[in-house]
Amino acid sequence: MYKTVMIPIDMAHIEEGKAMVEAAKVHAAKDARIILLNVVEEVPSYVAAELPSGILDKSKESAFQELKAVVEEAGIEADVEIRAGHPYRTILEAAEDDKVDLIIIASHKPGLQDYFLGSTAARVVRHASCSVLVVR
Ligand code: ADP
Repeated sequence: MYKTVMIPIDMAHIEEGKAMVEAAKVHAAKDARIILLNVVEEVPSYVAAELPSGILDKSKESAFQELKAVVEEAGIEADVEIRAGHPYRTILEAAEDDKVDLIIIASHKPGLQDYFLGSTAARVVRHASCSVLVVR
């Protein structure tokens, strides 16, 4: 059983969160720490300069609230973490920082059944130093 389980969720595909949380319920130890993570993608500074001020903070806040709602609906104890950066690198950094022993990730966008793995999922599987469960 795993003691610290991280579930990275793409807000554009939050509906996948439910299946991932169900997988966590199966694989996490009774007293495990479960962390839902969203990475808000950072934009280059020349793009950021053109955006309304505070938009990154607003994206982080709305991601936090949406993931909190997923936790409540699932009826589990879990932490919500929002980081800014490049998705796959930031997922791996967060997993190291939080001493995660299992990452549960979705394979790719729903509907893209022809692809074996999306690019973020593939990189996480290849480079993570802990176990990774890919949910299809
Ligand atoms: P696709 O290329 O089809 O979008 P991805 O590999 O990007 O597939 O996404 C697969 C999974 O990777 C997502 O369901 C999610 O678990 C994780 N993921 C992707 N982007 C993010 C993100 N910005 N924050 C957290 N998790 C993400």
